[in-house]
Amino acid sequence: MAVTRTFSIIKPDATRRNLTGAVTKMLEEAGLRVVASKRIRMTEDQARGFYEVHKDRPFYGELVDFMTSGPVVVQVLEGEDAVARNRKIMGATNPADAEEGTIRKTYAESIEANSVHGSDSDENAATEIAFFFTEDEIVG
Ligand code: ADP
Ligand code: MG
Repeated sequence: MAVTRTFSIIKPDATRRNLTGAVTKMLEEAGLRVVASKRIRMTEDQARGFYEVHKDRPFYGELVDFMTSGPVVVQVLEGEDAVARNRKIMGATNPADAEEGTIRKTYAESIEANSVHGSDSDENAATEIAFFFTEDEIVG
């Protein structure tokens, strides 16, 4: 299997509860390496742009409000089959459906405040990484 990259966000519900380290530890223990990381406060424009694919969903406005409600940690993760590996350790979108041992089962507060974002394809990972990082900020 090839070593690839994915994009992760530790969301405001997790940073508020001081879970940046705890979440990152679960990512690392799942075989992912943090090759770029920064703590930012997303602007409304950034959140709207990042979640553009969801603009027609009923929760879009609330999602933008949530993602700008506090600091987030944006990360580039590297590992074998990184997109699928990250989705597996994240767990299902709704923590009620997430498997035991996943980040969302362990930490998520709700279907919206679900602690982490992870890219869903290699193509989207590349787009999302480029949204927040320049190539020189990524050190493998
Ligand atoms: P995932 O983050 O698992 O890829 P989606 O891409 O479908 O899930 O949704 C993006 C984000 O929008 C979710 O992580 C969650 O924060 C929020 N969200 C998804 N579905 C709902 C919903 N039904 N109600 C409120 N927020 C939602
Ligand atoms: Mg998604």
